[in-house]
Amino acid sequence: MNTIVTKFGGSSLADANQFRKVREIILSDDRRKFVIPSAPGKRNSKDFKITDLLYLCHAHIESGIPLDDVFNLISNRYKAIVCELEISLDIDNYLQKIKNDIENGASKEYAASRGEYLNGIILATYLNFKFIDAKDVIIFNKYGSLDTDATYKALNSVLSKSEKSVIPGFYGSDSNANIVTFSRGGSDVTGALIAASINADLYENWTDVSGFLMADPRIVKNPMQIKKITYRELRELSYMGASVLHEESVFPVRNAGIPINIKNTNMPLDPGTLIVKDMEPDYDNPIKGIAGKKDFTVISIEKAMMNTELGFCRKVLSILEQNCISFENMPSGIDTVCVVISDSQLKNKTDILVDEIRRTCTPDSIVVHPNMALIATVGNGMSSNKGIAAKIFSALSSNNINIRMIDQGSSEINILIGIENDDFEKGINAIYNSFN
Ligand code: ADP
Ligand code: ASP
Ligand code: MG
Repeated sequence: MNTIVTKFGGSSLADANQFRKVREIILSDDRRKFVIPSAPGKRNSKDFKITDLLYLCHAHIESGIPLDDVFNLISNRYKAIVCELEISLDIDNYLQKIKNDIENGASKEYAASRGEYLNGIILATYLNFKFIDAKDVIIFNKYGSLDTDATYKALNSVLSKSEKSVIPGFYGSDSNANIVTFSRGGSDVTGALIAASINADLYENWTDVSGFLMADPRIVKNPMQIKKITYRELRELSYMGASVLHEESVFPVRNAGIPINIKNTNMPLDPGTLIVKDMEPDYDNPIKGIAGKKDFTVISIEKAMMNTELGFCRKVLSILEQNCISFENMPSGIDTVCVVISDSQLKNKTDILVDEIRRTCTPDSIVVHPNMALIATVGNGMSSNKGIAAKIFSALSSNNINIRMIDQGSSEINILIGIENDDFEKGINAIYNSFN
């Protein structure tokens, strides 16, 4: 193995002490050549993330409120890190420029990106590595989406000339030199792109937990750790809310066949979780993990002989498309079809949709179920393994939880159930306990 790309999350770089741990990890292995830092995260549960404070600074200026108080919180965090690490860096100068830029109307994405930018400069100086500004290597198109070809081209040309560099995560730029960010948690994506571009042997993702756990530790007490998982299983879990790794970070490394290792900065000797392309299903432990999200609405449409009506589902979907709404899921029966839509997509357009479906599709009935949560139970050992769904359903029913919707993809690695938002935490615990 020659090259490891290492990404450190916000909690791993939240203060000077965390920076010391990070330095020790990086310098302990000469193959750790490219380092991707996030912005400083929370030091404790009551603390603020720097990225949140930067968004707040921008919002202050937009509303005509001075940003000094909020910006001081940011300045003090960075100044303390630089001072305690005894780094020779004129951090005041950088801070002053960023403050001026935000006060003079810099964009929201520019403001948000400065957390990673400053952490990148500090970490590069501390490690004596080269600093590469992400604006020069992560390229977005004019619609704000990643321009993959331009990004790989830029990364190849810059990284091939660089040994040991720090590249801040989360942002890049477009062809007009505007700073553009990924969605929240996007430093994971930057790390994955860099790993893929240099065909790294391993992409290490360092965070504050010892790998991927079977369930969100904020919901289930001390969940078991997952030792090894496939990209596919991981994608299902991250998409459904297991927020350890940004869901889009799987694609670049999966395509290049690079394993991901999730590791704990505070317990660096723990092996963490290894994410690989393929592995033999474990039929004795068929469930890899459980994840879920709240706040969905299900529109349930019923019409006799729907199965023989050509184009029925197409009509429903084109109504969604015309209203710029993407749907999550569409389980169907002989005479019924349900459309599951996240409330963030729906944005109070429920009545418009229901009216249009009623007019265009003339169903026998159409019922809206709001306040739904979705829970995904994922594992490649589930396929051809009898009784898994039965176990999930009986776990829920013995906890008095009503199941509103069930869907199992044809790949048989995911069983999705819809329950009331209020039952969400209880539901995850019930499923977890029934398999452990
Ligand atoms: P970072 O700042 O290092 O990127 P994140 O906060 O993005 O870290 O991700 C790590 C957090 O993800 C953990 O602290 C944990 O609270 C949360 N999390 C949610 N689901 C899981 C899971 N299945 N396994 C481990 N952690 C999880
Ligand atoms: N700092 C950014 C955020 O808080 C990006 C990241 O953490 O990866 O979303
Ligand atoms: Mg993260």
